[in-house]
Amino acid sequence: MRLSKLGEFGLIKKLQKKIPAISPDVITGIGDDAAAIKVPKSRILVTSDMLIEGVHFDLSFTTFYQLGHKFLAVNISDILAMGGEPKYFLVSIGIPEKCDSENINELYSGISAIARKFGISIIGGDTCASKNGLILNGTLIGNVKHRTINRSGAKAGDGIFITDTAGDSAMGLFLLLNLKQKIKRCESEKAGIKFQGISLECRNVLSLVKKHLMPQPVHLKNTHRVTSMIDISDGLLADLGHICDESRTGAVIYKEKIPLSGELLSVAKKLGRDPLDFALKGGEDYILLFTAPVSYRTNAYRIGEIIKKGRYIIDSNGRKSRFKAEGYEHFKNSE
Ligand code: ADP
Ligand code: MG
Repeated sequence: MRLSKLGEFGLIKKLQKKIPAISPDVITGIGDDAAAIKVPKSRILVTSDMLIEGVHFDLSFTTFYQLGHKFLAVNISDILAMGGEPKYFLVSIGIPEKCDSENINELYSGISAIARKFGISIIGGDTCASKNGLILNGTLIGNVKHRTINRSGAKAGDGIFITDTAGDSAMGLFLLLNLKQKIKRCESEKAGIKFQGISLECRNVLSLVKKHLMPQPVHLKNTHRVTSMIDISDGLLADLGHICDESRTGAVIYKEKIPLSGELLSVAKKLGRDPLDFALKGGEDYILLFTAPVSYRTNAYRIGEIIKKGRYIIDSNGRKSRFKAEGYEHFKNSE
């Protein structure tokens, strides 16, 4: 249905019906001038993230469902990076004329599915018409029982850890930008996809693309001895750079210790690309990078150490080079 027919209030009523049941600590949810929540005896975390069509996503290769998922996932990732638990989400949307009510319904299905998985209540937002593409702004409120984990706590001698493989999302984006199509399923186990004249295994492409379009944030179970933490959104080097800046330390990382997925290794090899370029500079992994004493027992991957000064990367032959915080930074790439 066209939104001009449904109207702002009709749309909000419709969305309200499809949003999952909210938890008992929400006293007033959607429908009044502001939401009211019972505040637990803990610290409150608040984060906000914006996704703009043409800057952060392209509707020619993401579905509205995937977009809804990613929209909440990127906000969840920020709360997890502080050692917190996500609780309440506010959704503000600027809707262009080309979007109809089914599109927005699908967007909310994606938001609701991941909200349910994490036990998050959608408690409000704002709805406007947009003259320039779809705009999403999310505010996620969380809480943290013991202590918040900041970027500033790393100490020389700490190990540097990451919770999952890096670079998959960046390769997924690279494939999407070049293939310019929605890739939803493979015809068979062995099916191939032609990419610039090279045949890639469809299941590898699908897995990488999914990591980009639907990142799955995972919290760190035991944060007891963690000294600093950040989620990788700008790129491993850039985000490690943020930890170093805030903690006033240096860092050394080992190329061969960076975990890479089989899918990334296989696709990068076929395309004649260095998979580490994607892992170190790519971004949008939405995995956690943290520091902790080297004796810390965890199932995360240890990729290096915090040192007093300087930022170095060491290759498999022991060659040491300096690294700069290379990653994605808004405004800088447009010149
Ligand atoms: P007001 O004019 O007082 O800002 P609105 O008409 O914008 O009120 O919103 C009415 C209710 O609907 C509020 O509870 C608001 O939080 C909620 N709401 C508005 N837009 C959205 C949205 N896109 N998603 C979820 N809740 C929304
Ligand atoms: Mg409003």
